[in-house]
Amino acid sequence: SPLPDYLTEVLDACTDGSGTLADYIPELANVDPDRFALSLVTAEGTTYSAGDDNHVFTIQSISKPFVYGLALEKRGFEAVLGKIDVEPSGEAFNEISLERDSGRPLNPMINAGALTAHALVADADSPGTAIEEIRALLSALAGRELDIDEKVAASEMQTTYRNVAIANLLRGYEIFCDDPDEVVAGYVRQCSVDVTTTDLAMMAGTLASGGIQPRTGVQIFSRPVVRQVLSVMATCGMYDAAGDWLSTIGIPAKSGVSGGLIGVLPGQLGIAAYSPRLDEHGTSVQGVAAFERLSRDMNLHLMDAP
Ligand code: GLN
Repeated sequence: SPLPDYLTEVLDACTDGSGTLADYIPELANVDPDRFALSLVTAEGTTYSAGDDNHVFTIQSISKPFVYGLALEKRGFEAVLGKIDVEPSGEAFNEISLERDSGRPLNPMINAGALTAHALVADADSPGTAIEEIRALLSALAGRELDIDEKVAASEMQTTYRNVAIANLLRGYEIFCDDPDEVVAGYVRQCSVDVTTTDLAMMAGTLASGGIQPRTGVQIFSRPVVRQVLSVMATCGMYDAAGDWLSTIGIPAKSGVSGGLIGVLPGQLGIAAYSPRLDEHGTSVQGVAAFERLSRDMNLHLMDAP
């Protein structure tokens, strides 16, 4: 297949060295800024990769759509929608975007909504086990056992005052009734699960194939949950750049501050990129460039007639 050569060409063309490493989580500033990887998984499970596709980094906010999916599977649509809305906030990932009177987070892709989704996964009698359930979910999606980078988690815990504040507000509004510190600690570990672009492409590929992990064949999410997750990725996954992203690239997507980026083409492809230098939205600069190229070259924009 000529695809790997093409992907290598995309990486070369999109290498420009601009952007800056996330440093509000101290450990994220200690990475090699020049790593760059791109992986594709078809709905049938064929994988294509180029660049540093074995390089491990923390999943960060790319965990959010999957944990939202888990909350929907466990608690049902009505319970989850009652606690987390599905409206784009048009604001940054760490904004306090809560509905005026109820305190309900605007969507599950911003931190307020993601903290709530994490709390929804937790069982009242054993709240501390949610992280283990989430690690198991992400592992099933990747098709291999994933670990938590405790060093990155500990580093984020040192500086995560803003998430602690948001979690306390949510507790105050009774969006959840768990201990806010415990929710933050679990959420931070959720963000610290180690992945490669191959893992992320498998996760995205599972959403592309209607919830069935393309390699193991395991049904991880139901069809209605996949549709809901992809809808919020399309409208909210890129935070305050969601409209620009959807109109120019046209692929439901999710970014993370460690430099990962996934995209899902329903019925077709899961895509993942990694490059840790970020733009002002906290999204990988070279990752966006690579998606732009793929979307243009392979006619992937969802709003184009086939
Ligand atoms: N753990 C990070 C945070 O909560 C995730 C943010 C992101 O990747 N956008 O700040």
